[in-house]
Amino acid sequence: MKTELSIGIYLGILSFLFYLGFDITPLIILGLLCILLYYMLQKKGLVKAGNFQEVSSASTFNFDNIGGQEVAKQELKEALEFLIKSEEITRRGIRPLKGILLTGPPGTGKTLLAKAAAGYSDAVFLSTSGSEFIEMYAGVGAQRVRRLFNSAREKARKNKKNRAIIFIDEIEVLGGQRGSHSSHLEYDQTLNQFLVEMDGLNTHSDVDILVIAATNRPDLLDTALLRPGRFDRQVKVELPSLKGRLEILKLHMKNKIIANDVNLEEIAKETYGFSGAHLESVTNEAAILALRENSPEIKQRHLKEAVDKVILGEKLADKTNPQVLTRVAVHEAGHALISELVKENSVSQVTVTSRGNALGYVRQTQEEDQKLYTKNELKNNIKICLAGAVAEEIILGERSTGASNDFQQAVKIAKNIINTGLSSLGVVSIDDLAPAKVNEVVQEIISLEEKEVKAMITKNRKTLEKIINILKEEEQVSGEIIRKIIKEKAV
Ligand code: ATP
Repeated sequence: MKTELSIGIYLGILSFLFYLGFDITPLIILGLLCILLYYMLQKKGLVKAGNFQEVSSASTFNFDNIGGQEVAKQELKEALEFLIKSEEITRRGIRPLKGILLTGPPGTGKTLLAKAAAGYSDAVFLSTSGSEFIEMYAGVGAQRVRRLFNSAREKARKNKKNRAIIFIDEIEVLGGQRGSHSSHLEYDQTLNQFLVEMDGLNTHSDVDILVIAATNRPDLLDTALLRPGRFDRQVKVELPSLKGRLEILKLHMKNKIIANDVNLEEIAKETYGFSGAHLESVTNEAAILALRENSPEIKQRHLKEAVDKVILGEKLADKTNPQVLTRVAVHEAGHALISELVKENSVSQVTVTSRGNALGYVRQTQEEDQKLYTKNELKNNIKICLAGAVAEEIILGERSTGASNDFQQAVKIAKNIINTGLSSLGVVSIDDLAPAKVNEVVQEIISLEEKEVKAMITKNRKTLEKIINILKEEEQVSGEIIRKIIKEKAV
């Protein structure tokens, strides 16, 4: 705005002088030089316009637009009450809250929570990112920090509000441990300025400012940032639970046309470990798949395919050659069969369509994060890992390189068994054991499971072959069909 005004005044003066008959050529050249200099400095970041995005607090975004995250929402709302009822808080002698740190994996809704916070507290909302403050030139970052806090105050006054929320995404870039960067003078100055601004918050101003920062790496933050009086409150924004995933899916399906067969509960069960951003992507991909097929509505199979696409990427155009396809079918069928035998209802779908780097895969159904495992459960997981290679050996006569990741996983689980005192060694520290000894016990654990897997596959060979045949013909088979085949055999 200021730039436009200056250009207007400059052009006005030029026209006036020209009207009076002055030679204005030197002034035009001078003007052009000034513009050139301004753009050069802007490019270097010295006069970079503050990239503080202002989001109108009147925006309709609120906590209801965020699925799951009940604990985070509750904690944040409680903290915002401090901002809303600042007079009562002061009367009661409670120190006002200056900062809230949202921590958690990418795409879990930290930015959304901050946006909703602005709406909830009717505050002016400024959003920026830690990387906006980092420059090569000492002092520039610190200057930007000052400008950010000043512009929050100015904007609040302009909008006749007495509250402002500053949201800083990727705070670890701005607030990383001091002295740890190569050009640490600039980094340290910027962080120092930020700490100074936070300390001075709300002491002499008509505008109450709350800083909400977000990071995926709280471990990188300077301890000064986390001390009481700065970011007093840390809110964990975790990957959504089953209920949360269902809510997020519902929110993102609201604006889409869906068929009667759509069962979002099923999709929520199959998307364990997905973040909100992944789930949004699933609904979007499903809509794209429906469009590709010219289908007026999104069907359940679109959603299921979208889940695969989000996990592994787009289907590869080239058809796998029949020999490889057979091997992949045998391998994946082996995993799926043993998975169902050791843990009923654990398979959601098996596919032998190449996607991304995977030639085939078994999608497991897991509803919630399992925090504790018994020894038997760990051994069963090793069996599932080994089953692909063992099936190849029994059905096709030899193994292939396709099992290398499975073996790595099996070794990792075996080491976990040793480390948690569940192996024949009893309670030991794996770090103090000789590598040869660790290797010996890992092999002992794995070969025992391998023997059992061989016996199970030999006993259920017919069942396995049925699954392989369906996979070769249809390229995929659902968990229900696998369970049906297993039951038919048992009768
Ligand atoms: P990052 O750490 O990578 O910055 P973030 O935690 O800030 O990620 P957001 O930017 O808030 O994640 O979320 C990204 C997108 O994912 C949102 O625009 C939204 O579409 C979707 N999303 C994430 N979490 C949720 C949720 N809990 N409810 C609804 N949508 C969500």
